[in-house]
Amino acid sequence: MSQIIKTENLNLWYDKGKATEVHALKNINIGIEKGDYVSFFGPSGCGKTTILYAVSGIDRFQEGKVLINDVDISGLTNQELAVFRQTGIGIVFQQFNLVPSLNVLKNISLPMLFVGISSEKAEIEARKLIERLDLTKYANRYPHELSGGQQQRVGIARALANDPPIIIADEPLGNLDSANAKMVLNFLKELNEKDGRTIIMVTHEAWSLRDVKTIFHMKDGVVLDVEKTNAGSVGNSISKHLNEQLSSMSSENNKNVSDEEKISARILANFLLRGYSMDEIRRFESFVNERFENKIDKKEFRRLINKPFKEGGVGLWKKKAERVTIYLESILDEKKNVEHIYKTLEKNPELSIMDEIHAIRNWLLDGYTGQITPNQAMALDQVISDRVRDFIPSSKVVELLDLSKNKDGVGLSFRAAQVMSEKLELILNDSEVNYNSSHVDNENFEKKL
Ligand code: ADP
Ligand code: MG
Repeated sequence: MSQIIKTENLNLWYDKGKATEVHALKNINIGIEKGDYVSFFGPSGCGKTTILYAVSGIDRFQEGKVLINDVDISGLTNQELAVFRQTGIGIVFQQFNLVPSLNVLKNISLPMLFVGISSEKAEIEARKLIERLDLTKYANRYPHELSGGQQQRVGIARALANDPPIIIADEPLGNLDSANAKMVLNFLKELNEKDGRTIIMVTHEAWSLRDVKTIFHMKDGVVLDVEKTNAGSVGNSISKHLNEQLSSMSSENNKNVSDEEKISARILANFLLRGYSMDEIRRFESFVNERFENKIDKKEFRRLINKPFKEGGVGLWKKKAERVTIYLESILDEKKNVEHIYKTLEKNPELSIMDEIHAIRNWLLDGYTGQITPNQAMALDQVISDRVRDFIPSSKVVELLDLSKNKDGVGLSFRAAQVMSEKLELILNDSEVNYNSSHVDNENFEKKL
């Protein structure tokens, strides 16, 4: 994981050398990973705001270093620093800080005008943000004509202008009622999870830490300790639980099957039989294992899953049984393809596996109803290749598939990204099971099945 922000022995004084001198940041050494959602937590006056302003290049510090993507910001000229502040970081303030004489549309366009974007283009982008934050009705209103919650949404939209990878929010909930505060929190979470942005939020209320993944505890200008929460891994713990449940239920049926195959069958059963009962899924899983082991052939598999449940089958109606069978056979073929890739890579890790990757890509796209540009196809190949080589975990695959195109991701819809990632996991010999997306509607692929 790369660190998007890093500090080295960061020290900052206010009024240095004067009687009123305050040593506000003392030897801060922290690293913030790209895509993390972090918070600085501690009592009023401990230096939370100061650290935000120091890492965003607003406050100049006297000692130490701040590195953004490994670039030392104290080495930047004022002009470079200004560009970094305008495009690298979006800031959401507690007091909203909207310009009172500008309407919502103009407030949101403003940061884009600063970096030289034409006013027409800025307005087009601003309108997209207005829509995303559900502010369409208020585009022409002035800040004083809006509620606190609406003003903060404008503040967030403005922070998102210029599409910064880092969002900093200094007590963004302080002036909001609980309903609006929750909405802002949900949106920050979405910016983190869906957009993959790095979020840094300062708060002094513990409840608003619910989605935060890393907490830096502060006191008197010092970072006391770093806490990793399990906010980011809720999906994982659910999957572990589900996995355990399934494995204890089906251990009898699976005596002769390798662990890898068991896991594939389990993922597959859940993938294809969403909405079916645990008993049906379990039985389906055992037939999948028999097919994986070649104990039954394709025809027998189809017969068994079509047979009524009471008679020992799964009870899928005929057409679905047929489609599921075709799908399972395609997975078996792809699994062979992947096994071939692994054997090839074992012999020579440098060897090109491009043809195989293309085959996997085509298989993944089978059933996808959207359009893929050549650039997207290339990005998709890269993700597949990285996953097959185990350079990235399955959770990263969703993220990369979902990232918007201009950030080197594939730019699929979130749902398509999840479905495709799941499909990819089906053919990989990997013990990591990811059910994160098991709630996701599988419409496009279901249509095919
Ligand atoms: P927090 O955000 O945790 O409430 P701050 O970062 O605002 O804390 O403040 C840290 C310390 O620095 C406090 O003691 C505060 O009084 C002092 N401080 C903050 N801003 C200034 C300033 N502009 N001039 C002098 N002292 C300041
Ligand atoms: Mg503060």
